[in-house]
Amino acid sequence: MSSDSAPLHSSAVIDEAVQTLRNGGLVAIPTETVYGLAADARNPEAIKKIFAAKGRPSNHPLIVHLAAPDKFDQTQIDWVALLAPWARDVSEDALKLINQFWPGPLTLVFKKDKSVLNELTGGQDTVAIRAPAHPIAKELLRKFKGAVAAPSANRFGKVSPTSAADVREEFEGMLDLMVLDGGDCKVGIESTIVDFSSGEGAVLLRPGAITPGEILSKTGVKVYLPGENKTSNEEKVLPKVSGSLKAHYAPTTPLRLYASGRVLDALSEFPDTKSRVAVAVWDSESSLSHDGHPSARFEEVEVSSDSTVFASRLYRCLRDLDQQGWDLILFPEPPAGEEWDGVRDRLQRACFGSGPSSNNHESN
Ligand code: AMP
Ligand code: MG
Repeated sequence: MSSDSAPLHSSAVIDEAVQTLRNGGLVAIPTETVYGLAADARNPEAIKKIFAAKGRPSNHPLIVHLAAPDKFDQTQIDWVALLAPWARDVSEDALKLINQFWPGPLTLVFKKDKSVLNELTGGQDTVAIRAPAHPIAKELLRKFKGAVAAPSANRFGKVSPTSAADVREEFEGMLDLMVLDGGDCKVGIESTIVDFSSGEGAVLLRPGAITPGEILSKTGVKVYLPGENKTSNEEKVLPKVSGSLKAHYAPTTPLRLYASGRVLDALSEFPDTKSRVAVAVWDSESSLSHDGHPSARFEEVEVSSDSTVFASRLYRCLRDLDQQGWDLILFPEPPAGEEWDGVRDRLQRACFGSGPSSNNHESN
């Protein structure tokens, strides 16, 4: 289902989730990007439970999720007032992005209000905030009358969950977790993150469904790539971000990318004649020829040549392939073009972290 359809939960279930959050518990929630593991953003003990459940290092900050008020006319929402308890120095440009894209898959980073917990920001003086668009997340947040901290609901470094079943599987036997089922996530990859905290323009920290080109055309605001804005202080250390680890979003089966028409080169890394290899191929292309490689047993999986559709199915596809016992998964390198940047970023990190060892999560 899509996140536009009616919520799958009765209001009694949402009320129970609200109560769990108020009691300092964790609730897994659907959002339009991926499923989140939510806790009361003002409760330090609750936040610690997120880090413990995920196995996430405590200096990796979490995104605050705010309720989008239920207004027919979205331009009437007073975001300045809603952000005041969390963020300082919210610029006119930041408000243009907010008015255009919230609620939606865009996270903004600001200087934090002093009341914001260090547990939440990983000790940094900045805070990351977004208002999710999924109807269940919106209803929960409105009833909760607060904000939740919510990273993706998966163990650290692993593939993010895009269905309620994925979340349950991720924490099976470890955690008795309340999971709100909102169907499959529409966007399928994590939010775009734009940093306004330097006060010197907007900088892209993580690519996602909303691209700098779309932001420029809809708001007139230029979003720089890290290091591109020469007027900003080049010595500035970028905030620590899980999404910036070289290895992340990774399956346990080795995953590699192949350049267009170069499947055999990628396979030569795996000369074992008994290897079973899953090869993702563009739906727009004819089937691969398997001639010339005596070893591996192939199976082809079609992936969409539309970047939005590709993103919405990427993690589903990686999770499913990971469970099928392949020796190797091959994906085609995404084409050039910023609409593919979010997908390319996730695939590259997934490759780097893939394989049976989970100890290769080194930082870049
Ligand atoms: P996720 O990995 O989806 O849980 O999102 C967390 C990401 O949000 C981090 O890896 C950062 O990219 C970003 N983020 C969260 N909090 C902050 C913060 N205080 N300062 C800068 N970036 C942040
Ligand atoms: Mg994550």
